[in-house]
Amino acid sequence: MFKAFIGLGSNIGNREQFLEQAIRLLHKQPQIAVTRLSSIYETEPYGPVKQEPFLNMVAEIQTSLPPHDLLQVTQDIERRLKRERLIRWGPRTIDLDILTYADKMIETDSLVIPHPEITKRLFVLVPLCDLEPDLVLACDTLTVKERLKGFGRIKGVQLWKKNNGVGEFGLFES
Ligand code: ADP
Ligand code: MG
Repeated sequence: MFKAFIGLGSNIGNREQFLEQAIRLLHKQPQIAVTRLSSIYETEPYGPVKQEPFLNMVAEIQTSLPPHDLLQVTQDIERRLKRERLIRWGPRTIDLDILTYADKMIETDSLVIPHPEITKRLFVLVPLCDLEPDLVLACDTLTVKERLKGFGRIKGVQLWKKNNGVGEFGLFES
């Protein structure tokens, strides 16, 4: 089994429900166990496109799937959850990024691990730091906690729902 971290984001429709559905679909896979969830954060969208705020979180999984097979699973889940709402809501109901896979470095056309944007994105670093503050990414020399400190004040990322150990995974009612 390999440990991996998955970054999840949603900014359309019932955002929490999309996160929850994606987690459930991951956990349902026979070769994937979701082991821990971060808190959920509301985050300001990045970039030139004007859009609604996101909910972001990170899930820790254990998996026997090799990295590219895991990518297939996360993309299947994206398609499943996007397709249902595609017509009504547009394409960004759910985004699943493989942040890390064990301590591997992978660089292919379809898959780059660790995800190259992790150290630049507070909306990934903050929830990842919930779960693994002392993690040093395979492409980095500093821990997640130290990376986060380097930002100084944390802007645009607000705690939205704390993982307080209640409900399934300490987050969702079962
Ligand atoms: P965003 O950059 O906003 O996450 P998309 O989810 O649309 O944009 O990008 C998906 C593409 O990124 C996919 O075609 C996939 O092959 C590629 N990709 C590269 N590395 C990763 C990774 N670590 N996790 C998920 N997708 C990845
Ligand atoms: Mg993505």
